[in-house]
Amino acid sequence: MGPSRRHDVVVIGGGVVGITLARALSRYQLDIVVLERDAEVGFGVSKANSGIIHSGIHADPKTMKGQLEWPGNEGWLRLRDDLGFGFAQVGELLVALSDGELRTVEHLHDQGERKGVPGLQRWDVDRIRKHQPNLSRDIIAALWAPTAGVINPYEAVLLIADNAAANGVEIATEQPVIAIDPPDPHEPDGPLTVRTPTRTLVTRYVVNAAGLRADEVARMAGVGTFTITGRKGEEYLLDKRLAGLVTSVIFPCPTPTSKGTLVIPTFDGTIMVGPTAEATDDKDDTATTPEGAQAVFAAARRLVPVISQRDVIAEFAGVRAVAEGDDFILGPTARRGFINAAGIQSPGLTAAPAIADHLVEVLRDEGLELRERSDWRRRAEHPVRFSVLSTQEQEELAAQQPDFAKLVCRCELVTKAEVLDAIDRGARTLDGVKFRTRAGMGRCQGGFCTWGCLELLAERRGIPITEVTKRGGASWILRDREDAHAAPTPGS
Ligand SMILES: Cc1cc2nc3c(=O)[nH]c(=O)nc-3n(C[C@H](O)[C@H](O)[C@H](O)COP(=O)(O)OP(=O)(O)OC[C@H]3O[C@@H](n4cnc5c(N)ncnc54)[C@H](O)[C@@H]3O)c2cc1C
Repeated sequence: MGPSRRHDVVVIGGGVVGITLARALSRYQLDIVVLERDAEVGFGVSKANSGIIHSGIHADPKTMKGQLEWPGNEGWLRLRDDLGFGFAQVGELLVALSDGELRTVEHLHDQGERKGVPGLQRWDVDRIRKHQPNLSRDIIAALWAPTAGVINPYEAVLLIADNAAANGVEIATEQPVIAIDPPDPHEPDGPLTVRTPTRTLVTRYVVNAAGLRADEVARMAGVGTFTITGRKGEEYLLDKRLAGLVTSVIFPCPTPTSKGTLVIPTFDGTIMVGPTAEATDDKDDTATTPEGAQAVFAAARRLVPVISQRDVIAEFAGVRAVAEGDDFILGPTARRGFINAAGIQSPGLTAAPAIADHLVEVLRDEGLELRERSDWRRRAEHPVRFSVLSTQEQEELAAQQPDFAKLVCRCELVTKAEVLDAIDRGARTLDGVKFRTRAGMGRCQGGFCTWGCLELLAERRGIPITEVTKRGGASWILRDREDAHAAPTPGS
């Protein structure tokens, strides 16, 4: 299909970076489109991470990562106030187990203060034990940073996306960008033409927020000046009965390539341990491994000795997008109008609101006129979360709307009304429902609710149940009886 209108900004990639930028731009009088390859936004590394909004002490202030880490933390507080997603400022404790590590603690303390991170304190053993009695007795000191917090990254990205869409941003999923036309020789600084298999978009500016594939997208625009490599991180979620084992994020001293294996009290109250940091050639490799599990649990037990692999209820891996120089690549390129937001590895989630603000200024410097809208909707309507309501509120709601009286997911107490609302807000897949509602995230890991969610997705979207996928593409869950009979038998 040919172009029907000229856009102001096309953002390639609907991860936390692209979506947060689109929402930041939505306050201006602009025509904005986000093109996302996957079936839903946030399905890249933005949902497969530790969910920590870092305190701001970690990254070197000489790097872009370091300059945007602390402002990003502050930006999340503003986003939380606007959009109402969960952000628990649980603080972090960076612990030292040796005299050598004490020097690292001192360095990060000093670095954090120079960056303006408030509330930093050095804790001695007594204070550590009082606040975190389950930590290893080998810990000799710690740095307390109260500004660290935890969020549900997928909940946040989806709510930011909902708000951007409510402010007129077009979020187009299943739209992989496959080409960006070369400049018109008669108009080398003219608009850019972006192509997906089904659409052609003409736009004044493109922001490349394509995560692990930002190098490929830059090459499409003729400015492939960097490569992105993958660095995999495995994470392990433990049974809910361990809730409270630690109440702040516990950090070891960092290694040259990562912040180390952490013990994380997630926003939902479970304990998560991870991540690893292994270079990988396969950017789609999100499998967990026995070696990864062994490394994670050995490292976690150095911090909290009672942690056991027997308590794992779920596991996943995400792949960090690492550029040469180990820093974010943010800014204009030799192709006029083409802006990079690439190499957004950790602390990319934390920094995302500050990256968005930075890119808005880059776009302004590149000539984008930013006129504020008078009708911008800063706040978003938050979906009802039945499980957190009081019994009286639950009864009243169920009496008014019978779909709140029908439980779809027993582990996480998710109702039919919430699943239908998730679909109406844009969930197209089983994972889309899961990440919006938590149906399937509990102890039985979808054993009970998968069928109910599939039926509701099929019914609401008006498609056969066999066409509902787990996460888009060919990730079908059910097969027609006829197909099943026609399919080769196992082992043939
Ligand atoms: C294990 C792990 C733990 C982490 N923990 C933390 C943490 O606790 N705190 C923190 O601050 N950071 C953390 N990070 C880093 C953080 O998750 C990332 O920096 C951040 O999510 C990057 O967001 P993004 O939008 O750049 O990338 P993505 O979320 O990957 O988004 C890029 C999007 O671009 C899309 N795309 C790609 N190619 C195309 C194309 N051709 N056309 C259209 N769309 C395309 C992809 O489908 C994807 O949705 C962690 C990372 C890992 C791997």
